Amino acid sequence: MSFSFDHSRDPTVHYDPLADRNIFLAPRRADRPNTLLNCRQADCPFCIENARLTPDPVQQWPTLDSQDWKSRVIPNAYPVVEMKSSTQGSDNADTYIPTTKSVHASGIHEVIIESPHHIESVLEVPFDDWVGVWKLCQQRMKQLATNPEIAWATLFKNGGIQAGASLAHVHSQLIAIDRTPPTISTKCQQVIRQPNLFKNILFEAESENRVVHTYKSFVAIVPSAPRQPFEVWLIRNEPSCFLHTEPHSQMEEVARFTQQFVGALNHLIPDASYNWWLHQFPFVPSLLLDKAAAHWHWHLEVLPRIAPIAGFELGTGYHISTIPPDRAAGLLRETGSWKESEQPRHGS
Ligand SMILES: [Zn+2]
Repeated sequence: MSFSFDHSRDPTVHYDPLADRNIFLAPRRADRPNTLLNCRQADCPFCIENARLTPDPVQQWPTLDSQDWKSRVIPNAYPVVEMKSSTQGSDNADTYIPTTKSVHASGIHEVIIESPHHIESVLEVPFDDWVGVWKLCQQRMKQLATNPEIAWATLFKNGGIQAGASLAHVHSQLIAIDRTPPTISTKCQQVIRQPNLFKNILFEAESENRVVHTYKSFVAIVPSAPRQPFEVWLIRNEPSCFLHTEPHSQMEEVARFTQQFVGALNHLIPDASYNWWLHQFPFVPSLLLDKAAAHWHWHLEVLPRIAPIAGFELGTGYHISTIPPDRAAGLLRETGSWKESEQPRHGS
């Protein structure tokens, strides 16, 4: 590389007034190790025997003081957002007016280490421990939801090299920020215009044969306009804003779905990369968006990374897929990955 990065700067948000779009600038992330292909257990910071290499956990499963923890939440060493120190002044998101002047990127960026052992696939995490990961996420979200400086938060996984993973050890991430992203604002506004939108989405998925699997509290569907082959959304079947306010028992269903989905995708396309992310409602009250709260169904979107996201997609925002949604749902159902829904699935 013929240039050096400026690693000294704090993360910032920059606004593009032409596209009405923000970007997060995080120069220190250039220091991230990229050990996906050659990470050895001896060096891996996420393995329990190397826990001294990472900051102290902010939350752990089953308890914060467990020596034999099954999963844990630690601060991200290369954060996209950081809470401001008290000397940095304020650019409160409520009063934030877009300008081309950059502002501090305020928030919390954490890593969820999903196993103490050096494994790479969620399918290798024993089911009970995988349920524990989701209960751990609930605990952490519950803490963040009461933080007045946090407007919205998400969980996301980069599964595989095509999905942006940089460390092989099974993990996901949590980012909590001082603003509501445009994707969520748009969805809220759509729900305000059509209060029954989520109900209609579930009804149409059923009538168009796009339901992949039904759980007690969720429905897994291929959306009407999938961006990639085998995109699936796990949607709460009743109105509900947040992951953390749900009973622990629901996390068994989320855990089961995520392992079943990865099993189905592996069956169709071995070792396919995928992302998933949580779309929940904003934590902070908003005159603009609150009318959507009673009609929001939180959901997990899972996007396989099979086809490249290339020039047309980046230039227009239009994605190109190759498999009709009802056909994709049929192929996913036929994998047989969903048959164990009454029995906890153990690692394979
Ligand atoms: Zn490891």
